[in-house]
Amino acid sequence: MKSLFGSRAELDRLRRELDECRSEITVARAREERLAAAVEMAPIGLVVVDEAGREVLRSRAARLGSHAEVLLDEALEELLRDALGGAIAQRRLELFGPPQRVLLISTVPLGGHGAMAVIDDVSERARLDAVRTDFIANISHELKTPVGALAVLAETLVDNDDLAVAHRLAGKMMSEAYRVSATIDDLLELSRIELGGRGEAEVVSLAAVFGEVAARHRLPAETAGVTLQVGPGNGLAVVGDRLQLVSAVSNLVDNAVKYTDRGGTVAVRAQAAGGAVEIEVCDTGVGIPARDIDRVFERFYRVDRARSRDTGGTGLGLAIVRHVANNHGGEVSVHSREGEGSTFTLRIPIDDETEGTA
Ligand code: ADP
Repeated sequence: MKSLFGSRAELDRLRRELDECRSEITVARAREERLAAAVEMAPIGLVVVDEAGREVLRSRAARLGSHAEVLLDEALEELLRDALGGAIAQRRLELFGPPQRVLLISTVPLGGHGAMAVIDDVSERARLDAVRTDFIANISHELKTPVGALAVLAETLVDNDDLAVAHRLAGKMMSEAYRVSATIDDLLELSRIELGGRGEAEVVSLAAVFGEVAARHRLPAETAGVTLQVGPGNGLAVVGDRLQLVSAVSNLVDNAVKYTDRGGTVAVRAQAAGGAVEIEVCDTGVGIPARDIDRVFERFYRVDRARSRDTGGTGLGLAIVRHVANNHGGEVSVHSREGEGSTFTLRIPIDDETEGTA
């Protein structure tokens, strides 16, 4: 029988085609939704405008919130207008915050379909660049001072005939040369620890670390009139790089001795504490003023420049300690009271296998 719409077979074919169309629409819709979700969640921001410059899409990362968004929109308006005219452009936008942010905005025309802006948050990259530039400026300054002093001392020495004066000048030259050499040694150590990451991953007993530290510092402590007590390792061990750990504890003890007056005490001890080993270096020294305590781990930061210089400090010791702690998944903290002393605690997490292996 032939119906109004043709034969039954034709009707079936139309129905099948309709079903196919429906499933294609479902697939296309799902694809569109997936794409929209990807654009929305992308870590870089996207803004798309149509041919008339009307905004048709703005992803999550391009929505900055009130004040920052006003500044972003000002920049976008100009750049997208140029992009609609066919120009490709890029601009760096600094937002002074808080939070401080640096955005890199790139705009491109979409070939008669409007224009698009890509917004990349490069704040972290900009921060690292600033830290690096700062660091280089600091190194230059740290090396320039003793090298300058060396030049002046050498010039004076050349014009001098008095043997006693020559002796004194040579002594000063030696100490300036040691200063340059100590700074370079610490810079190399810091970069080795920074680049080397965690380094070796062996079971390191604290008894061994303490043994090396005691051997290294016994004589300087004695000379400084400071009693050095290095406790037993208490059978504790951590997984890590022995050289790095010795370097960290050694830097803490070196400071403790340097910043403790004659007659004082420096004690090094270890204890297990909630899934970690805590190494404490405690002194009865000059202490650290509260206003400086958050900054002492920064490279080249010194509370008392003169004392640091007189005792051969480079300003890098605590930066090295902090790096070693980070490399071992741990942290270093300090409690201090001016005039009473300081306790630095190096906390290194231990896994179950390490426990009881020393
Ligand atoms: P430095 O080579 O100058 O000792 P560090 O990075 O080791 O550099 O230490 C940074 C600063 O922190 C020191 O200059 C000093 O002012 C302060 N400091 C570190 N350890 C102690 C301590 N045990 N007691 C008092 N001040 C300390």
